[in-house]
Amino acid sequence: MRQPIVLDTEFVTGVPDQLAEHTLYVSMEYATVAHKCCCGCGLEVVTPLSPTDWKLSYDGVSVSLHPSIGNWSFPCRSHYWIDKGKVRWAGDMSQEQINSVRAKDCRAKARYFDPTERPIVPASTAKPDNPKPGLWSWLARLWS
Ligand SMILES: [Zn+2]
Repeated sequence: MRQPIVLDTEFVTGVPDQLAEHTLYVSMEYATVAHKCCCGCGLEVVTPLSPTDWKLSYDGVSVSLHPSIGNWSFPCRSHYWIDKGKVRWAGDMSQEQINSVRAKDCRAKARYFDPTERPIVPASTAKPDNPKPGLWSWLARLWS
């Protein structure tokens, strides 16, 4: 078991060049939260806040971030939740799970930024688009 970590919260305008350990820097101006990876590897984790990225909640004392922080591109591959300023370690995910989460994010973004955008279906699983000519004539007969 890893040690429980409690994070301080600093509300800043711009994220400073040097981040202190165990501190969440929250910039409302840039809708961004930055912190040093909680595993102690020292890499900076930047989480943009947006309807399709992370959501921040602040209860007046501590900050929670949703969804979890998955540092898959870091060597440490740490994965944790920030819940009321506390770090809750989550399990590692397989590459397959990460890919499916990424694909889901991608589709959510596409829908958010362009509601007419159809979900992206990988070619291998895409079903041929079968028009049903029979259905329309059947409907037309029903309504006439
Ligand atoms: Zn790390």
